[in-house]
Amino acid sequence: MYNKHSLKATEFIDDEEIKETLRFAQENKHNKELISSLIERAADCKGLTHREAAVLLECDLPEENEKMFTLAKQIKQKLYGNRIVMFAPLYLSNYCVNGCVYCPYHYKNKHIRRKKLTQEEIRQEVIALQDMGHKRLALETGEDPVHSPIEYVLESIKTIYGIKHKNGAIRRVNVNIAATTVDNYRKLKEAGIGTYILFQETYNKQSYEQLHPNGPKSNYAYHTEAMDRAMEGGIDDVGCGVLFGLNMYRYDFVGLLMHAEHLEAVHGVGPHTISVPRICPADDINPNEFSNAISDEIFTKIVAVLRIAVPYTGMIISTRESQKTREKVLDLGISQISGASSTSVGGYAVPEKEEENSAQFDVSDNRTLDEVVNWLLKLGYIPSFCTACYREGRTGDRFMSLVKSGQIANCCHPNALLTLREYLDDYAKEDTKKLGSAIIDRELLHIPNEKARETCASYLHSIDNGKRDFRF
Ligand code: SF4
Ligand code: SF4
Repeated sequence: MYNKHSLKATEFIDDEEIKETLRFAQENKHNKELISSLIERAADCKGLTHREAAVLLECDLPEENEKMFTLAKQIKQKLYGNRIVMFAPLYLSNYCVNGCVYCPYHYKNKHIRRKKLTQEEIRQEVIALQDMGHKRLALETGEDPVHSPIEYVLESIKTIYGIKHKNGAIRRVNVNIAATTVDNYRKLKEAGIGTYILFQETYNKQSYEQLHPNGPKSNYAYHTEAMDRAMEGGIDDVGCGVLFGLNMYRYDFVGLLMHAEHLEAVHGVGPHTISVPRICPADDINPNEFSNAISDEIFTKIVAVLRIAVPYTGMIISTRESQKTREKVLDLGISQISGASSTSVGGYAVPEKEEENSAQFDVSDNRTLDEVVNWLLKLGYIPSFCTACYREGRTGDRFMSLVKSGQIANCCHPNALLTLREYLDDYAKEDTKKLGSAIIDRELLHIPNEKARETCASYLHSIDNGKRDFRF
C-alpha cells in the first residue's frame, strides 16, 4: 500500500501506485485542459506531484510540449540564472563484489585492470585535478569490504582535504559509495563530505533484482532505504538518480519523484541533487543489449519535466553525454556538469593506455576543463567553482529554505564570479581569460544588492592581488 511517510522501500516506492500513475498519464496524454492547467500552476515554482509530472512526460500535444520547454527554461533562469557549477569525479578503486550487469566493474569481468589508489596516488590525482582548476570532487569507488572499507574512504577524504598545491584546494568532496550503515554515514558526515550520492539505477524491484543478481547491492530494500539511513546519520544533502535505459524510463521517472516526495515527507528536505545518467558503452557492456535505451528527444523531455516538478533540486549531467546533448539540456534545467573527467582509477595523474582499461564508462565529452569553461562562456553561461553553501553550513533544510526564499541568488551569483575569477587568474588560457574577464565585468552589474555588489568588486580586486577563497 502506497505511503510516502513509510520507511519501507516497497511502500514509499509502491509498484501499484507507479503502475496506476502510468495508466493515469496514458489516459490523459491528450487532455489539453489538464496539461495546460498543470503547466500554468507549475509556473509558481512550487513543483508537481509524481502523478502530475507523469502526465506532462506522457503528453504528446506539440503545443503543450513547447510550453513545457519554455517553462523549464524560465524556471532554470529564475532559480539558477546562467551559472553552471563544475565538478570532477575521482575514482579511488574499481574492486567490486557486486555483479551489476550494466557496469564493467562487476566482479566477473576478468579483462578490466583492477586498481586501488594508495594515499600517495590520491595525492597525485588531486594535484592533477587542482592544476586543472577543480574545487569540487565526487568520490567514486566500487563496493568491496576488503579493498575499500569505510576506513579507506575516510582516510582518502582526509588526504584530499589536506592537499594544498599552489593556489589549489578541493573545497567540497561529495561521495558516491555503496549503500551502508547509519554508523558509516555518521562517519562520512564527520569527515566533512558534501553530498552523499547513490543512484537507485532502477526503482522497479523485479528488474532491479535481475540487474543485480548477487552481492550486497542485490538487496533492493537495503539499497532503496539508504538515503533514509544517510539522513539518520546526519547527512542532509543527498543526491539521487537512476540509470536511464535500464528499465522503462517512465517507471523510473515516477519512482525518482516518489523517492523525492518520500524524503521531503519524512525528513523535511528532498534530494539536494538529481543526476540523469543514461547507459553508455563500456568494457564488457554493450548498451544495445538494453532494449530500454532512450532517445535524445525523450532524454531532453525528462530533464525539462524534472526541472518543472522539482524546481529546487540541482540537476547534474556527466561526460557520459556528448557536447551536443549537454548543450541541449543546459538551459532546460541542468545546474552542475563535470568537466575533463577521467573515469579510470588514477587516470588524472597518469592517463591510461588503451590496453590498461580500468574505466567505468566511455566518456563522450573529452574536452579539457579549459575548453569546457571556454565553451560555457561562449554560450553565455558563468562556469562556477563555488562550494560556499556547504562551507557556510547551508545544508539540508537550511539550504532549501534559503533557496525557496529566493535569497540564494544573492549568494550564488557573486560566488560564481569570485570562483571564476580565481580560475581565470590561476589556470585559464589567454582566450578563456579574456572572455571570462569581460563576462565578470558585465555580470558584476547584475548583482541586485548594492552592498553585495561593492563587496564582490572588492573581493575580485583582492583575488587579482593574490588572495583566495572569498565567499558569500
Ligand atoms: Fe560495483 Fe557499482 Fe559497478 Fe555495481 S555499479 S558493479 S556496485 S561499481
Ligand atoms: Fe551552490 Fe551555494 Fe554556491 Fe549557490 S552559493 S552555487 S547553491 S554552493
